[in-house]
Amino acid sequence: MRVADGGIAVCPLGSGSKGNAYWVETAKTAILIDAGFSFKQLSGRIADIGRDIADVEHVFITHEHNDHIQSLKVMLKRHRPTIWTSAGTLRAIRKHLPDGASVKRINSNPENAGDIVAQAIPVRHDAAEPFAYRFDSHAGSLAIVTDLGEWTPDNVKALDGPDVFVCEANHDPEMLAAGPYPWYLKQRIASETGHLSNEQGAMLAAAVVKKGTREIVLAHLSETNNDSSLALEVFGTQLNGKRDHVHIHAASQAQPGPWVRSAVHETAGEKQARGGPSIASLLRRPR
Ligand SMILES: [Zn+2]
Ligand SMILES: [Zn+2]
Repeated sequence: MRVADGGIAVCPLGSGSKGNAYWVETAKTAILIDAGFSFKQLSGRIADIGRDIADVEHVFITHEHNDHIQSLKVMLKRHRPTIWTSAGTLRAIRKHLPDGASVKRINSNPENAGDIVAQAIPVRHDAAEPFAYRFDSHAGSLAIVTDLGEWTPDNVKALDGPDVFVCEANHDPEMLAAGPYPWYLKQRIASETGHLSNEQGAMLAAAVVKKGTREIVLAHLSETNNDSSLALEVFGTQLNGKRDHVHIHAASQAQPGPWVRSAVHETAGEKQARGGPSIASLLRRPR
């Protein structure tokens, strides 16, 4: 079942410091953002959401950290999607790219990937040239922003109020400070090139959300230094007043989900089938 109305849908396949990847689709195009699990895990999780890794036509890589590219090499030996990333990330991941792989550099210009238009957005993170991405389909938009230590007004402008906003909520500062990580790692995570805390992510979300924004998915939550109910609460408080039209979900490290999509316009077929579950309810997995 694909998005039928020109919209765009996303399902996190898993998100956190142990691995990150997202399935994104329109009616015509399937893309992956990052490939930060073993190939077995990645293809298994894609199968778990009823999709096939063989159908992926484009893979957008955010940056070279292992929790984002773990299975890139194995995937490219078995399948032939086009890889898109920055020039800097490309240099950093070259050893993961088998001969003959289809690789394209993306910069500040929008690029077409099937019927999706991709816009790369530079972010501050301790990697070669990390990107967040915004994706626009015929009738919907989505942005995925994780792995950044601080956000800028330029980021907000480029993100431009997407229908679906996947936003980093990495840590609670108090849990990080009191937690078991060594000092240097705590410093790295909390630095301006580390990861967004719940508060920082929530403030970004509040700045980014516009009238059309329907769904926010919290991502890259630390299993050690965060708690999903706490993160949801922080975002809920920050977005108070804008919340009547926005649903807030949290992605998990352990399993795929939730499915969220840009808009729900009932098709004739869906109207006819009313009484049964709507596409929206089928797409949105129970948490
Ligand atoms: Zn990461
Ligand atoms: Zn990273």
